[in-house]
Amino acid sequence: MENGIDSTHAFYHFCKSALEDIEQQGRYRRFTPLSRQSSSYPLYESNNTLPSNKPVVVWSSNDYLGMGVEPEVINAAIVAVKNYGAGAGGTRNIAGTHPLHLELEAELADLHNKEAGLIFVCGYLSNQTSLQTILNSMNGNWIVFSDRLNHASMIAGIKGSRKSSCIIFEHNDLEDLEKKLATAPKDAQKLIAFESVYSMDGDIADLRGMCALARKYNALTYLDEVHAVGLYGNQGGGVSERDNVADQIDIIEGTLAKGFGVHGGYVTAKKAIIEYLRLAASGFIFTTSLPPSIAAACLTSVKLVRKQQWRRDKLFERVRTFQRKLRKANISFMQTESHIVPVMIRDAELCKEISDRLLKEYALYATPINYPTVPKGTERLRLTPNPFHTDEMMDDMVNALKTLL
Ligand SMILES: *Cc1c(COP(=O)(O)O)cnc(C)c1O
Repeated sequence: MENGIDSTHAFYHFCKSALEDIEQQGRYRRFTPLSRQSSSYPLYESNNTLPSNKPVVVWSSNDYLGMGVEPEVINAAIVAVKNYGAGAGGTRNIAGTHPLHLELEAELADLHNKEAGLIFVCGYLSNQTSLQTILNSMNGNWIVFSDRLNHASMIAGIKGSRKSSCIIFEHNDLEDLEKKLATAPKDAQKLIAFESVYSMDGDIADLRGMCALARKYNALTYLDEVHAVGLYGNQGGGVSERDNVADQIDIIEGTLAKGFGVHGGYVTAKKAIIEYLRLAASGFIFTTSLPPSIAAACLTSVKLVRKQQWRRDKLFERVRTFQRKLRKANISFMQTESHIVPVMIRDAELCKEISDRLLKEYALYATPINYPTVPKGTERLRLTPNPFHTDEMMDDMVNALKTLL
């Protein structure tokens, strides 16, 4: 056989039947290719996949502030590509560190009021490799307290550690966390891993409460601010900036790909912790660094976001306006203090069908969120208004939902 394994191979059969199972359970994911129009965000071209060929209004982007289409950010990338080339050409240690990488790390450390920062090729990797490296340190004798709804990348890091034990506490439940902290041996090395804004329900952790418990039980704190950076706090330093607790969080992790609109992940912490990760984290060392053009775009974006309060103000004004319109139309959604608006459908098939019909009949795109991403019976459309959704776009969405629900 010249084309690899043939169809009698056991693995081939396994794949075929796994795919059938996934299809039967309604969990087969299909891409919806849409090309973003940088001059008219949140409009995307549907590339003739729709009968109307109308531009599609996207309601599910994580580019929360529109930084990925900001002309200054785009231009920074263009200039850097021209000057420095398309790729980095090496890992950070092997000819792949550009001065822009260092500048970006310093900027991020400053954003979170930390001594140092370290960038990774994506947020997933920053969580996975940082947690794994920390939990493998000191002979691996760690107990991790992990929020039940923590992101897959944190879970991967925790599972990837060799000896640490993991105790899951109920989501955002300080009482449960304290109960579990109290039963752990006093002298065990403890780390609490949690997020600020949880992306599916849009709820926000009590960071102050978490920090108080961490101090009481002498635990390290590791906070994923992926859905908060750029959006919360006076400079977009996340909920830890907003709540004035950044100095009590030992490691703050974030992404450059959501609120900052570009690409990459990072952690910030005390210099010694960052240096240790820089020298020990496999997922940092053994991979080609971010292209200088991406670092340039990120740096421009972070600097702009820090000073452009109007983006945060406009985002939250748009979110509140959209929530008001939904309420007036009697459409059921989860009212949260965050920028995420989950519109509850509570049925997997219906959720997918409504999403399909929104796209085909109304040129509106909202991702259906089904099990296993959320519990069965809580299926939803996850809507994320951004500063550039107009009143008219909102009315179109509300009217379409009113018809379809
Ligand atoms: C998206 C996400 C990540 C990963 O960030 P990327 O930069 O997209 O890899 C990490 N944590 C949470 C909570 C996320 O939603």
